Amino acid sequence: MSDHAAPHTHRIIIIGAGFSGIGMAIRLRERGVDDFVILERASDLGGTWRDNRYPGCACDVQSALYSFSFAPNAEWSSVFSPQAEIWNYLKACAQRFDIMRHLRFRETVSRVAWLEHEQQWVVTSSTQQWHAPQVILASGALSDPVTPAIAGLGGFAGKQFHSAQWDHSYDLRGKRVAVIGTGASAIQFVPRIQAQVESLHLFQRTPPWIMPRHDHAIPSWRRALYRAVPAAQTVARATLYAQRELMFVPFRHRAVRRFAEWSARRHMESQVRDPALRARLLPTYGIGCKRVLLSDNYYPAIAQPNVSLVTDAIVRVHADGIEMTDGRHHAVDTIIFGTGFRPTDPPLAPFVIGRHGTTLAEQWRGSPQAYWGTTVAGFPNFALLLGPNTGLGHTSILLVVEAQIEHVLKLMDAMARHDAATVEPTAAAQSRFVEWCNTALSGTVWNSGGCDSWYLDRTGRNSALWPYRVGRFMREASRLRESDYEFRPRRVDA
Ligand code: NAP
Repeated sequence: MSDHAAPHTHRIIIIGAGFSGIGMAIRLRERGVDDFVILERASDLGGTWRDNRYPGCACDVQSALYSFSFAPNAEWSSVFSPQAEIWNYLKACAQRFDIMRHLRFRETVSRVAWLEHEQQWVVTSSTQQWHAPQVILASGALSDPVTPAIAGLGGFAGKQFHSAQWDHSYDLRGKRVAVIGTGASAIQFVPRIQAQVESLHLFQRTPPWIMPRHDHAIPSWRRALYRAVPAAQTVARATLYAQRELMFVPFRHRAVRRFAEWSARRHMESQVRDPALRARLLPTYGIGCKRVLLSDNYYPAIAQPNVSLVTDAIVRVHADGIEMTDGRHHAVDTIIFGTGFRPTDPPLAPFVIGRHGTTLAEQWRGSPQAYWGTTVAGFPNFALLLGPNTGLGHTSILLVVEAQIEHVLKLMDAMARHDAATVEPTAAAQSRFVEWCNTALSGTVWNSGGCDSWYLDRTGRNSALWPYRVGRFMREASRLRESDYEFRPRRVDA
């Protein structure tokens, strides 16, 4: 940052231009709020849908539901549209709602600090300082890919990359490829690359539960109908919403969970003939403990003769391959990491400094906590989109984002009514919310279903998930309980 650059002052600074940052910006514009910027570290908007371009990348929530309620799109090509369409949809929303002029690209934020005397935030980015009384952190849960620290990885002589940083210039044809991880990303790209590569060693640490996906193209007559009669798409969206809420039931009811496990087993049995392979693909934990995946082409791909499923643990990587605990050595020329992200360790948390001079990371000590996953005691005029305890395992996360945005807008209205300069939740209200989530999550399949998952943070607390149906979050988070907030007037000496 240049010492000579004058700080830019705005009413609001949004950090991150993914779905939540753009959604927030659209709703602000709709309210007539124009004085805000969106700081984005990349050179384009889109967040996880800009970064994840691996072959087969798509959303596992139907596009009609994985889109803003206020911006339906009649043109989705299939029920689960691919990454490029989702990314283009978000870019089109930014254009249509005149958000582009608020975007500041290549601005990597390194510090966000509250100035108590001035009652405003100072945000330090790679080029300058930005001042605003209000900051909205919309930097996403899946922004920083995680590559495991496997011994010897630095000495690998071949090509290696993470699925979120796919190198499309690298030709996989004829290569001996190792894929590490069998999560939501890997099960999408493995079927796409299997036929190209010479051999594919798939390193599975824990098998996922997989249900059928039933994707199909949306016929042109239906797209024409949605264009001509938008209400028809509203009905389709409402139907999907209701169906996906039903998918929540197995998480909370053991008998229904048994039925879901039986259907997932049937799905595998219909696609994998080899009983020995089936045995290695069958999870030993309750369905839902980890995210349930949807795929119709993963099992058929890994049953192909050029694929070997490796379930032993990795000891170390050598220049020419991977050594296993059983002493075997798999010779490979490419390693692709499908090893995901770390949603419970938000990358900016160590750099956001609140009213008491402590950072979010220091306050959280490995276990993020927020009031309705949105506001944090000790951090005035600050909101997190997709913060702690807002994750879902069954439906569209954009439903949560929209409810959080509503919460933030109501808070701004309340500040105006109270003529307040700052607002933050009371520590008691935040603790009550967190305890309520903890109680609701205890004993559930997510916490004690017999697996290790990224839902549980470093302290073992489930700080990732919202414990109920999304409808409850939408109803309750978008309602403001003013008594849970502390409003403060402008300082006379400010
Ligand atoms: P993920 O679901 O976290 O899966 C990571 C995989 O890597 C797991 O199989 C994990 O095994 C394995 N792994 C991690 N570290 C390892 C190590 N040191 N050695 C061996 N294996 C290791 O990551 P992801 O597939 O990238 O997906 C992340 C999240 O992104 C998803 O849960 C989902 O929320 C989102 N996503 C969504 C979509 C969508 O369609 N909406 C698509 C892709 C991703 P363990 O299970 O044993 O830990």
